[in-house]
Amino acid sequence: MFVFLDIDGVLATEDTWDEWFALGSPTDRKHELLDPECVKYVQRLCDRLKAKVVISSSWRCSHSLGELVGILERAGLMLDVVGYTESRFDFDRGREIADYMEVHDLRPQDVLILEDAEVVDPFEARTVRPCFRGDDAGFRGPQYTEALRLVEG
Ligand SMILES: [Mg+2]
Repeated sequence: MFVFLDIDGVLATEDTWDEWFALGSPTDRKHELLDPECVKYVQRLCDRLKAKVVISSSWRCSHSLGELVGILERAGLMLDVVGYTESRFDFDRGREIADYMEVHDLRPQDVLILEDAEVVDPFEARTVRPCFRGDDAGFRGPQYTEALRLVEG
């Protein structure tokens, strides 16, 4: 299973960003933007699915893949990261994922998308969409359950 992983809205939330800004936006502590409970559930999901992870977050635009893996690991997230999606001129997240799937010959049933933004069809049925704001923001227990329901039926 390939998991397309967004960061803001999945692992980082409005609250964790506010806390990080309050610290003075320390660039060497970006791993603190990742909510520990969201980290736990994403780890649990990826372990269970033996997931190959593709970073689809815009964080890929400001960090190398190695830097991103370092940030994830400092937050306690040990994933099999195999790459990232390429940016499109229109920054359409769904089409960026579709482009990656086409290049790597992936079918919709091969993928799961964790993404708070709109993802265009035909991948809606393979998408779990947490939210960025609110007390229950991010990927937590309910989103974990939904993800398993999507992939395991
Ligand atoms: Mg996002």
